[in-house]
Amino acid sequence: MPESIIKGYYENLRKGKLIGNKCKCGGYTFPPTAACEHCGNSETEAIELSGEGALLFVSHSMAPPPNPRFNKIAPYAYGHVCLEEGIYVQAIINGIDIEPESLMKYYEKCPVKVRADIIEAEGLPVLAFKIV
Ligand SMILES: [Zn+2]
Repeated sequence: MPESIIKGYYENLRKGKLIGNKCKCGGYTFPPTAACEHCGNSETEAIELSGEGALLFVSHSMAPPPNPRFNKIAPYAYGHVCLEEGIYVQAIINGIDIEPESLMKYYEKCPVKVRADIIEAEGLPVLAFKIV
């Protein structure tokens, strides 16, 4: 993946913008890469996604964060989100208590509407969502 795609992804994320790629095949690729993840076409168009979606499932990890840069924000809720564009992502869900009773409440309510709510960990923006 060319550096400019990664750099652009983080620069936009820092501004609260979710930029993906849309392909002629109709598929989206997010986070953006050098080629469409559906058909491999490298001629894709950068497109700003709505940042709106539905939280399908939320839980928390019993394991330590996968990267030390998340240590300061752990423990956190982690969820599966389907963006309005039909893109499935896994991300941190802000503002959710990770106690079992709280998670059970969301388990019973999902899908619930969420909106991108970018956070920062050790100087890098991180994709996260909040309940709306
Ligand atoms: Zn495609």
